[in-house]
Amino acid sequence: MSIPSDLSAAGTPTAPARTRVAPSPTGDPHVGTAYMALFDVAWARHTGGRFVLRIEDTDRVRLVAGSEQQIYESLDWLGLRPDEGPQTGGPFAPYRQSERLDTYRPYVDRLIDQGHAYYCWCSAERLAEMRAEQQRDKSGSGYDRLCYGKSREERAQLPGFTETPVVRMLIPDDVSLAFDDLIRGEVRAPRPDDQVILKADGFPTYHLAVVVDDHEMGITTVVRGEEWISSTPKHILLQEWLGLPVPQYAHMPLLRNTDKSKISKRRNPAARLLWFREQGYLPEALRNFLQLLAYPPVGDDGSEIATLDQFVDSFDWSRVNTTGPIFDVKKLDWINGAYIRAMDPGDLADRIIDHLVERGVWTEPDAVRRELVRRATPLIQERLTLLGEAADKLDFLLVDDTTLEVDDDALEKLTDDAARVVDAALGVLEGLSPWDAETIQAALRAKLVDDLGLKPKVAFGPVRVGITGRQVSPPLFESMDILGHDSSLARLARFRELL
Ligand code: GLU
Repeated sequence: MSIPSDLSAAGTPTAPARTRVAPSPTGDPHVGTAYMALFDVAWARHTGGRFVLRIEDTDRVRLVAGSEQQIYESLDWLGLRPDEGPQTGGPFAPYRQSERLDTYRPYVDRLIDQGHAYYCWCSAERLAEMRAEQQRDKSGSGYDRLCYGKSREERAQLPGFTETPVVRMLIPDDVSLAFDDLIRGEVRAPRPDDQVILKADGFPTYHLAVVVDDHEMGITTVVRGEEWISSTPKHILLQEWLGLPVPQYAHMPLLRNTDKSKISKRRNPAARLLWFREQGYLPEALRNFLQLLAYPPVGDDGSEIATLDQFVDSFDWSRVNTTGPIFDVKKLDWINGAYIRAMDPGDLADRIIDHLVERGVWTEPDAVRRELVRRATPLIQERLTLLGEAADKLDFLLVDDTTLEVDDDALEKLTDDAARVVDAALGVLEGLSPWDAETIQAALRAKLVDDLGLKPKVAFGPVRVGITGRQVSPPLFESMDILGHDSSLARLARFRELL
């Protein structure tokens, strides 16, 4: 019998996990942050634990104003709001590393006292020369330990000295390079260099800060990208030296472009998390897509479409893929369409309006126009992939009858019959009652097709252009029904003048 993964061998449930996502606020949030956050949330919620947002802002040069706020808003938008973080607060505040600087120094001092870390006064120029030389005569790589074992005075006698030192880890010869990973089992990493842990400006590097903060914030499970595998032996070494418990590690497979390269904001607009919102993807669809990148379908009857709760309930590290998933936006389009089709049309209409107003495509519609959009949404729901596509299809509902613009293209394509058709349509529609799609269709068909003997395309084409300004539009008779008698006739009468 196999043991479910949330039960230990002794049959006791796993303790509540504390997971964290630790982005650096260096620009638009990366889609990878949401991908990590999703798996963090899954494990935290599955075990009844908590998900933490920590802002890793120790690299002061790369800091971008507003980036932290965007990270927070994007996670919120995706329904992955952290239980603790800079905005939410929590028992381990502050959650911004720049506000925790006093925390790190004592750990560094301890490591120096214990002989596990040492000062290094080498200038940037000296390090560059050292690297060039190593490359030239292929004499290895990594810091050559010129400063190790020397006092400041001794080192100052030698070339390439700077006043303010950094602190480096002293990686022992017998450093253990293997560790256990929740997704990958035993992993082996390459031998690390004497990593800098404290920079000359007094800020810790990522490697020290991550170990200290994960410990101080009670993180039980570190979920991060596979690019960090090579750093993990250094982190475990620091934990051992400092007598800290080693958390569980889960290194997620890297997201890749369709050509298999690592996804980057420079090369792929979809690497920007905000891009999805701008394009009109639904957050629940994006969340579902991110799940499927590294996890099998968990919906009803094996469906790929699944709620966050279904994902959380099913969660098991042994089911996470190890190979880099291809980030295929076409798949996301399909998922988004499926979510749109499954939505209540009223909710969908509200989402369409919110999206288009937020994007500045529409101005906030008044109550009457909002109602028009709500009634027309079912007409376009089946074939909509992105919220933004609704603008093109529904714009005609939001303009005054007297300001509806008719596409030049549509005008040019009209045949000589257009004027005759519109006159006849105006004639039958004037006193038509009741005003509904079926009656409108029957009346126009009887007059234009049966009486005048026109082909349906020739008969209804001009009416469509008069009503919507376009050659292609949502279903015509339903659109006229929604617009109402007066509006429809006013549009056709005005259109007639153009012919
Ligand atoms: N600040 C790191 C990043 O942005 C966090 C890595 C980690 O989760 O340990 O990728």
